[in-house]
Amino acid sequence: MSVHQTYSFFQSVERSFDKAAKFTKWDLGILEQIKACNSVYQMRFPVKRDDGSIQVIEAYRVQHSHHKTPCKGGIRFSDEVNQDEVMALASLMTYKCAIVNVPFGGGKGGIKINPRKYSEYELEKITRRYTSELVKKNFIGPGIDVPAPDYGTGSREMAWIVDTYASLKPGDIDAAGCVTGKPVTQGGVRGRTEATGLGVFFGIREVCNMPDIMQKQGLSVGIEDKTVVVQGMGNVGFYCAKFFREHGAKVVAIAEYEGAIFNANGLNEEEVFAHRKVTGSILNFPGANNLAKNTDALELECDILIPAALENVINGDNAPRVKAKIIGEAANGPCSPEADEIFAQKGILCVPDMYLNAGGVTVSYFEWLKNLSHVRYGRMEKRFTENMNSHILGQIEELSGKKVSATERDFIMHGPDEVDLIHSGLEETMIGATREIMEIWKSNPEIPDMRTAAYVSAINKVAISYSELGIFP
Ligand code: NAD
Repeated sequence: MSVHQTYSFFQSVERSFDKAAKFTKWDLGILEQIKACNSVYQMRFPVKRDDGSIQVIEAYRVQHSHHKTPCKGGIRFSDEVNQDEVMALASLMTYKCAIVNVPFGGGKGGIKINPRKYSEYELEKITRRYTSELVKKNFIGPGIDVPAPDYGTGSREMAWIVDTYASLKPGDIDAAGCVTGKPVTQGGVRGRTEATGLGVFFGIREVCNMPDIMQKQGLSVGIEDKTVVVQGMGNVGFYCAKFFREHGAKVVAIAEYEGAIFNANGLNEEEVFAHRKVTGSILNFPGANNLAKNTDALELECDILIPAALENVINGDNAPRVKAKIIGEAANGPCSPEADEIFAQKGILCVPDMYLNAGGVTVSYFEWLKNLSHVRYGRMEKRFTENMNSHILGQIEELSGKKVSATERDFIMHGPDEVDLIHSGLEETMIGATREIMEIWKSNPEIPDMRTAAYVSAINKVAISYSELGIFP
């Protein structure tokens, strides 16, 4: 039985905030305003199941901060959804957007259902009804509040949302900007699907490229040959595993809710995914050992541990047994405040969720901009850049009397496609945010960990925004 005090998820976020607020110069009033959830909308609506029965659905939308509009944050389908969780996730979104300089306030939505227990038709009805409830209360719109996918939802649900919104708002030319994470055919942007996982990779790679930090962790500089454990093979976990593997790291273990597998020589996430599709489980993957419990993966010897499933999976109980040198919080809130204290004692570097998994919201911001500008990224400059590069290359070859290889030619000539620009914008954002947070951390030796430094960065930015609005003299 746990002897540790437990906090609700929202209380955990508040505790982390308070810990960081001590390192800022802002008055208590302004700090209280930043912490509070500005609007909480709890709704209940009926849905007719396929068997003819009526079920009352519980759902939420929380707008944590209106210091910037629109609000932004995913919609979660899970039977664990409750008001406290949605409030916590909405507040993390405010801090996350501030850290990565995305000009949105934080929001989050949740529907208390296990999507596995509903048919596609039932899910569509629930999603569309939820959207019309949001429209009724003015809780959705390209300039109001812009949802996105989260745990248990994806581009399919976002397509239902935009379609419902557009049909209720005929003639709204910016209707496509009411939600992000849409399929490309419905106004989505190329590169959104892998954005969060890729952002996690860029953030951890930047940390691994910092010689002083790596020396402190007893690791070599760079990502190559690092051993990685990933919990959760959903959208975020899958792409994390993919980008780490493609850049030379070894994904030695993968955990899913049915169990965990280990192979010291590395696992290929695509093969594991295909195996799961056929057998219904990641267990018994050829060449890998099954672990007794899925949580055992969190306690394996490794360089980098990536929890990419749910919150609170590393807490006061199991944190003492964690052996990773770096934890990359891909999920929202996977480590409790008690775990943070244990990591500080053990010298484990925890790279915090609210900036590390900001890839999704960063690319969502790019998608929203695309929707408002009504033009695909790269459309205006791709051909121009290719013509210009071809001209420059021709001149260089003529003057030097040498020809570049066909591969080099293709690389130099290439004008940016949408996905190139999205990945590049994401890389720039994650590198910039990592450096900003590290600067804050290094500037004050009293700041205990990277999460606190990230909060300091967020609090300062939101507080400046409030004071510039003139709300606080
Ligand atoms: P998802 O539904 O695609 O995947 C989650 C995966 O975790 C599923 O495969 C599920 O089976 C697995 N899982 C559930 N319980 C588990 C357990 N106990 N052990 C191991 N695996 C378990 O969800 P996602 O979009 O990948 O989101 C994962 C986390 O990342 C969430 O905390 C979410 O809030 C956060 N996040 C997601 C995004 C995004 O763009 N999708 C952005 C930022 C943060």
